[in-house]
Amino acid sequence: MKILVLNSGSSSLKYQLIDSESEEVLAKGLAERIGAAGGGGKIKHECVANGKAELDVDMADHAEAIDHVFAMLKDPEVGAVKSMDEISAVGHRVLHGGEKFVQPTLVNEEVVREVEKLSDLGPLHNPANAKGIRACMKLMPNVPQVAVFDTAFHATMPDYAYTYALPYKYYTDYGIRRYGFHGTSHRFVTSQALKMLKSMNVDPAASRIITCHLGNGSSMAAVVGGKVMDTSMGVTPAEGLMMGTRCGDIDPAILTYLGKKLNATPEDLDDLINKKSGLLGVSGVSSDMRDVENSANEGNKRSKLALAIFCYRIRKYIGAYTAAMGGLDAIVFTGGIGENSNTIRARICEDMDFFGIKIDADKNNKLRGPADISEDGSKVRILLIPTNEERVIARETVQVVTGSNESV
Ligand code: ADP
Repeated sequence: MKILVLNSGSSSLKYQLIDSESEEVLAKGLAERIGAAGGGGKIKHECVANGKAELDVDMADHAEAIDHVFAMLKDPEVGAVKSMDEISAVGHRVLHGGEKFVQPTLVNEEVVREVEKLSDLGPLHNPANAKGIRACMKLMPNVPQVAVFDTAFHATMPDYAYTYALPYKYYTDYGIRRYGFHGTSHRFVTSQALKMLKSMNVDPAASRIITCHLGNGSSMAAVVGGKVMDTSMGVTPAEGLMMGTRCGDIDPAILTYLGKKLNATPEDLDDLINKKSGLLGVSGVSSDMRDVENSANEGNKRSKLALAIFCYRIRKYIGAYTAAMGGLDAIVFTGGIGENSNTIRARICEDMDFFGIKIDADKNNKLRGPADISEDGSKVRILLIPTNEERVIARETVQVVTGSNESV
């Protein structure tokens, strides 16, 4: 089957066309500046077999963007299909599923309306996700659309892990609770890790692992027997680890304090914690880990501090989750930073012998994933597993449309 995977952002649209049998990417691309006031829209497209193309085109909305993407996919030179009828289903990445959507879901009008309603909890992403779904429903009325939720994998958390110590009515009235994100990635690396652990004689059903998705957005999850027990992101992706531009955990009273001092609106504060903080805010150099590492290597003190905070916070979560799970069998690193920065991995794992965590310097420096980069005698396995969210979305889309239930 050919599955189109779409990730609709507020002004962008990422897509991949995947052959579900071979899991090969047939074509992929990115449409940018959708609905931008000044125009300047662009689609960067690549057909793996036939080459790349760029199209400068203004796109008023997601429907127009998808229309152009379809034309690229059918293009005689750089296309990957002769007709859109060859596409069996579309898998949409949706940020927030709230408490309602804990599984990939076949989309109908009611589902898309619920996704729109959840915009309260995911104001930056859910409206765009819904627009992408609506555009496809209109352009491909006979092709099944499947919504795959970023929150879904975390639905197994117990109430004491997901409930905030706020007045309980805010949970019942407004749905304020921990949901967690990057679920598609945590699910994928968990399933890979459990296969690797099985071959190392660790029983997957009793396994306790910590998955670290470290990218522009970063989150960790404590996973017992393949089910999430806790995760670092909360009602929104702002909680937990230090990220490219998000602050992660802070004293909540800072917001009221700064709100008064700066005479700031809720939107200003939202911007502060989501777009101006993290690596960017502390280093003042960049939100990109490569830039921050380079400038720290050149002696920049604030970049050094940013790296120290980044790694320290992850180490604290490893300790907390190990205690919460009553032990630890494996740590998994994934995401742009987790997969590529051997120095960050080494700093996170250093001096953790008392936990049974011993990283092998040589393997950490040389191996690319999937790989075990722990010392032979390490009680806890340290696994490097590249994530592939589009592949999971394609697999889950196939499962929903065929009614099969293989594990991802
Ligand atoms: P997103 O969360 O947007 O999907 P990615 O998972 O691609 O992002 O991660 C992007 C982050 O990965 C950036 O901070 C980037 O600097 C970092 N990164 C990518 N390659 C390397 C590398 N070789 N060394 C250190 N950091 C890297």
